[in-house]
Amino acid sequence: MERHICQNLFFSLSRKFMYNLVTLASGVSAKDIKYDEFMCLCSTSGGLSVLVDLYLTMPKSLLSLSCRSLLRALLEKLRHNEIQYDARAIKVQHFKNYVLVTDSTGERHIAQAVILAIPWNKVESLEFEPQLPRHYRTIGRGKAKRQMDQLTQFFLRYDHSYWITQGYSGLFLNVDPFVVGYESDSSQYSGYMLHTEEQAGAVRETVLDVLAEQFGEEMLDPRNYKQFTCELSSTLHKPQVKPWNRVIWSSSASAANSNRNLMAGAVESGLRAAINALFVIRPQVVGWQDLSDVHERNRYAGVSTSYISGLLSRLNLYNIAYYSVFVVGLLCVLSYSYNQSV
Ligand SMILES: Cc1cc2nc3c(=O)[nH]c(=O)nc-3n(C[C@H](O)[C@H](O)[C@H](O)COP(=O)(O)OP(=O)(O)OC[C@H]3O[C@@H](n4cnc5c(N)ncnc54)[C@H](O)[C@@H]3O)c2cc1C
Repeated sequence: MERHICQNLFFSLSRKFMYNLVTLASGVSAKDIKYDEFMCLCSTSGGLSVLVDLYLTMPKSLLSLSCRSLLRALLEKLRHNEIQYDARAIKVQHFKNYVLVTDSTGERHIAQAVILAIPWNKVESLEFEPQLPRHYRTIGRGKAKRQMDQLTQFFLRYDHSYWITQGYSGLFLNVDPFVVGYESDSSQYSGYMLHTEEQAGAVRETVLDVLAEQFGEEMLDPRNYKQFTCELSSTLHKPQVKPWNRVIWSSSASAANSNRNLMAGAVESGLRAAINALFVIRPQVVGWQDLSDVHERNRYAGVSTSYISGLLSRLNLYNIAYYSVFVVGLLCVLSYSYNQSV
């Protein structure tokens, strides 16, 4: 992807912008993802322009969703389910009739089937017993040399909306370092910054500096500053839709084959995971139609053409006429020179 960007974009600022967008959408840098892989990600997310809209032009709608009210509504629906907070799954042991999951508190959970609704780079850090089959393990290409990028959301509160005083709407984009900002309400300014793990300590300073450069020195001194950092999930592989016996994948980043890396993808992959899990524990209630809706369709295999059909497909009216004129002309020249020589 890096080569494609360099060949097609001439200005270093445009290149940097694309590098950032690729990292933001795929979780890996442009040199670690192939052009085809990124295009596959774009097509499953609704196109490049949708990604640009999502991350850059409409960040307000993305980040201002109240997670608290969303979680409250979900918990209301899930009141008969047991939820364990602040516990990370670290080990998954696969037995013939059940799966045993050990969490970071040391507690063990037994289930007939397990749905892992986490991004693939998180799946890779789990300990599996027996080991995951090779074709699941090799999809995270170049894992060792990749550095994980992070995304920090920031929330600033000021006494006045200084950006409005200056005549700006507040919508802000800085390419290097990559910072996106917007006005959340009259005195609150929010946004996010893309950075590496080493730069995490300097996020506050960097954000305030770039905002001050654009909207004035007053931005350096917010009344209130909050930030949250998360690791970008990586999508350096095709959607992972096939369960591994009793272990089932679900995550918009790793298992959705449409709306990938979006909430709709998370819902779609969750639905597929639920049917797969039901098939494992109660196969009698799952019909072929349910499964046919969720079975893997190899949409990214592409059309493989033979050399001859490739050659034939290049023939068209224009080049047939061109070659005919060329051959007829050559024959005329040859016959003319033959007649002259005898
Ligand atoms: C800045 C930004 C803005 C976005 N805006 C939009 C938007 O407007 N619309 C949209 O549709 N999508 C948006 N997305 C994408 C959307 O957030 C994701 O597609 C969606 O949240 C993916 O859901 P998920 O359940 O697959 O994974 P996640 O939401 O990543 O959930 C995975 C969860 O698993 C937990 N976890 C990880 N490892 C373990 C472990 N070992 N044990 C236990 N738990 C673990 C994590 O803590 C996390 O809570 C945005 C993404 C970003 C980064």
